[in-house]
Amino acid sequence: SKIGRKFFVGGNWKCNGTVDEVKKIVNLLNGAADIPPKDKVDVVISPPFVFLSQVKSSLRPDLSVAAQNAWVQKGGAFTGEISAEMLVNLGIPWVILGHSERRLLLKESNEFVADKVAYALSQGIKVIACIGETLEQRESGQALKIIAEQAKAIAAKVSDWNNVVLAYEPVWAIGTGKVATPAQAQEVHADLRKWLKTNVSPKVAESARIIYGGSVSGANCVELAGQPDVDGFLVGGASLKPEFTDIIKAGL
Ligand code: PGA
Repeated sequence: SKIGRKFFVGGNWKCNGTVDEVKKIVNLLNGAADIPPKDKVDVVISPPFVFLSQVKSSLRPDLSVAAQNAWVQKGGAFTGEISAEMLVNLGIPWVILGHSERRLLLKESNEFVADKVAYALSQGIKVIACIGETLEQRESGQALKIIAEQAKAIAAKVSDWNNVVLAYEPVWAIGTGKVATPAQAQEVHADLRKWLKTNVSPKVAESARIIYGGSVSGANCVELAGQPDVDGFLVGGASLKPEFTDIIKAGL
């Protein structure tokens, strides 16, 4: 049952946007009268770093903000990186870590992602931790094994699961328009919850939110949200469009 797990919708803008476009999206969200209250859904908007301040200062207060990455340790001589302390200083409560685009393009390993999760949590930042298999891994029957390995690396370094949302994002569904079927998503989410029950605790398995990401749209969100172990979404492309507000309402 989903009782006790508040619906969660993240909007991952990825490497998109201009000052004017950001203004437009924020205005759209600020003007949306039908966004459910904060006790019904957590909405977390994740712009590129350079727009975090702009979004943070202009976005309505019932919606929250996430960074798309953070450095693995305390800041210092790490050219081009953004530290968790800086996010705290800016008042950014969330960070997305382990996104497949970073795992694959920037070769972030399970251990590196897990270290980032641990460091962000240690600084008081809540984490959307992304995991998911490639098409090749799915087709060779390794999906559940790969996902369990990714979850295991993260779980080894997390003590407070209250501040972690797990995002299952099959790589073959991201940005492809090829969304997982509700049954495919439910199968993995249920398996992940079972994994948490065995390897972390029954309590964490019951309370941890597992959200789905990969070509979520206004057209497919309601059926996906109806699955018993789908607790929300991480939305890429559609988070830049008006249909994002429909996705926010999908869990109600
Ligand atoms: P998409 O991206 O919704 O554009 O498929 C999801 C994500 O990468 O978080």
